Amino acid sequence: MAALQDLLEYQKLDGELRKIDLELGATEEKKKLNQAKVIMRNAELRIAAQDKRAVELKQLRDSLIARVDETSKAIAEYSDVEELVEGGGDVSFYKKSAQQLMDRVRAMKAELNGMLDEIEKLTAEYKKLMEQGKQMNKQRKEYSEKYKEVQSRYADTVASLTKQMEETARKIPPEMLERYKQKRNEKVFPVLVPLNGDMCVCGMDLPLAQRNRLAGGNVIECENCHRFIYKQ
Ligand SMILES: [Zn+2]
Repeated sequence: MAALQDLLEYQKLDGELRKIDLELGATEEKKKLNQAKVIMRNAELRIAAQDKRAVELKQLRDSLIARVDETSKAIAEYSDVEELVEGGGDVSFYKKSAQQLMDRVRAMKAELNGMLDEIEKLTAEYKKLMEQGKQMNKQRKEYSEKYKEVQSRYADTVASLTKQMEETARKIPPEMLERYKQKRNEKVFPVLVPLNGDMCVCGMDLPLAQRNRLAGGNVIECENCHRFIYKQ
């Protein structure tokens, strides 16, 4: 069947393009470019998380200020404690509530220190992230240019292969070509594989009835891995 030969030819060209892609992907230039992109993206995510935390810390600060105010007012009431005690107030009651106020002050102080520590850490991390971002941006620009140079070395071959693929594609039934492209999008290669004994390359056994359908250059789809199977 002509379609099988055309599809095999199409896959051969596709394989050559894929090989170039893999070669390009393995170059130092591409690796450095990707590294810069990944680090920059991570830094952006981290800075966004920091911004979110900064809003929470601001809320915490406001709440702490309100609590300090409230406690200060409660403490101010103690300015006339002598009078109150002389007037017959219960000393142990005032002692107990003074103790409670002291505990509250201590807890707020600890909370404030925790906040200051965290702010210090966040500030240091932010500085580091910005510095790293600057470096990586430089690396991204530098290697983006270098990678373009590498790519340009392959440009003619890629253009020629792409043109041949387009020409071959016209001879392949559209529905079959569509299915082939779908598999390629899923990073499957090769899509079209020869029958391996009674099996597909994925190890799936093909019943005789299915194998019989391979006669005359027919192509069938494996039920397991959905590759196209043909008989050599
Ligand atoms: Zn299979």
